[in-house]
Amino acid sequence: MAKITGFLEFGREKTHYRPLAERLKDWQQVMEPLPAKTLNEQAARCMDCGIPFCHQGCPLGNLIPDWNDLVYRERWADAIERLHATNNFPEFTGTLCPAPCEGSCVLGINNDPVSIKAVELAIIERAFAEGWIAPLPPVVETGRKVAVVGSGPAGLAAAQQLRRAGHRVTVFERDDRLGGLLRYGIPEFKMEKRVLDRRLAQLRAEGVEFRVNAHVGVDVDVAELKRDFHAVLLAGGATVPRDLPLPGRELKGVHFAMEYLTLANRRLEGDRVADDRDLRAEGKHVVIIGGGDTGADCLGTAHRQQAKHITQLEIMARPPNVRGADNPWPEWPRIYRTSSAHEEGGERVYSVSTKRFVDDGRGALRGIEIVDVELKQANGRMSFEEVPDTTRELPCELALLAMGFVHPERGVLDQFGVRVTERGNVWRDGNWMTSVEGVFTAGDMQRGQSLIVWAIAEGRSAAAGIDRFLMGGTELPAPLP
Ligand SMILES: Cc1cc2nc3c(=O)[nH]c(=O)nc-3n(C[C@H](O)[C@H](O)[C@H](O)COP(=O)(O)OP(=O)(O)OC[C@H]3O[C@@H](n4cnc5c(N)ncnc54)[C@H](O)[C@@H]3O)c2cc1C
Ligand code: SF4
Repeated sequence: MAKITGFLEFGREKTHYRPLAERLKDWQQVMEPLPAKTLNEQAARCMDCGIPFCHQGCPLGNLIPDWNDLVYRERWADAIERLHATNNFPEFTGTLCPAPCEGSCVLGINNDPVSIKAVELAIIERAFAEGWIAPLPPVVETGRKVAVVGSGPAGLAAAQQLRRAGHRVTVFERDDRLGGLLRYGIPEFKMEKRVLDRRLAQLRAEGVEFRVNAHVGVDVDVAELKRDFHAVLLAGGATVPRDLPLPGRELKGVHFAMEYLTLANRRLEGDRVADDRDLRAEGKHVVIIGGGDTGADCLGTAHRQQAKHITQLEIMARPPNVRGADNPWPEWPRIYRTSSAHEEGGERVYSVSTKRFVDDGRGALRGIEIVDVELKQANGRMSFEEVPDTTRELPCELALLAMGFVHPERGVLDQFGVRVTERGNVWRDGNWMTSVEGVFTAGDMQRGQSLIVWAIAEGRSAAAGIDRFLMGGTELPAPLP
């Protein structure tokens, strides 16, 4: 145990962000590392519980009390070894994860939970700084070849695991750059792309081959892939966005969040983007429809593009500041959260529904008509009812639809002939294999829209399934059944 009285002596330290005035002028990461002394105290708060519920909260089964103790004792090299035992990319989760582990931390019953995520990030950053993160190529080659479709966190985690087990791995990515949503979805101010590139360099040095601009089912023939590889992993994400087919949806200025975020990320990568005034927030009233994390990413991006005013709409009621009676520990706390982008400004409006997009008379967006709604329950069914006399128009020249993703794209799945579930995600068996022999799946493509931590956990689990399929057994860890 780190320090027996640590949780009594020290309070939880909030995440440190760079000052507002400074960070709004650039795109660099807003989160700052905790000072060494603070970090030591945060690790000291861990109680090394007999039944560590944080393990249960983390899909990766991260060995959290072990590395909290090691950080407290300043045994950093041992800490990174324990951390990497369950997580290929702790820098992604340490920076971006909403930390379900913290939601289920035992200290959270009557106190603030341990700052698990901050400790995780400190361990991996220290390890990179010390030069401890070296390529780990396999000692023995198996001669088996695996194709991974998609280079998001699920595909990358699987690729690294499979390569280290001695298989020849080729990752096919239809985009021009690698990383999936880490590259073109998540903005630079949340995680700088150098963090992704640093890890990709390790995978390359281990012998993972990458092919970009390789759209499987379009540029790369599915039959060839099945013929040339002993196994295929489908990790293409859940990329079909939820639409809002209301009057005026076709107007200039109404876009999906991912159209907006992808272009913003491309500009920062130095790409020349064709005339995109339509998709810039500068000087505009921006309305983001959807109160979740993707919406918050649009918000932070629009701040940096100097929007005139930004409103984020959410159909659900404002969550409470503390857990409700129907949301006890160790469930994920459904509480009001303020991201770094929310701290930076903008207005959040809850319990509203959009009625139509308003035309300026020239085919462009002038405003958005909204109405207050109440959630009603009748005959066991929930529905939103409009509150009379609350319809109003918000000025808006750029509307961003950030209401999540419905399922993966069907084209490539139909070509492989894999079965899909009722929700449109890829069906799999207990060994992560689809309905087609030798074709496996992981990440948002099989789970539906989710989180990086789940994608990594699924990539690791699917890699174990593939290794077992190819070799008749496996020593690769599988955090998920
Ligand atoms: C804007 C945004 C912000 C987010 N922020 C967070 C966050 O802060 N924290 C968090 O935990 N989660 C976040 N998420 C969710 C998280 O990014 C995803 O759950 C995660 O990236 C899923 O990983 P994946 O590998 O399954 O798929 P993806 O990351 O979607 O990667 C799939 C890749 O497959 C490629 N592909 C698809 N089809 C083909 C094909 N036929 N041939 C070749 N390549 C193909 C795609 O181009 C893509 O690069 C966010 C999501 C969005 C949209
Ligand atoms: S539940 Fe919280 S206090 Fe207990 S071991 Fe895990 S991190 Fe430490």
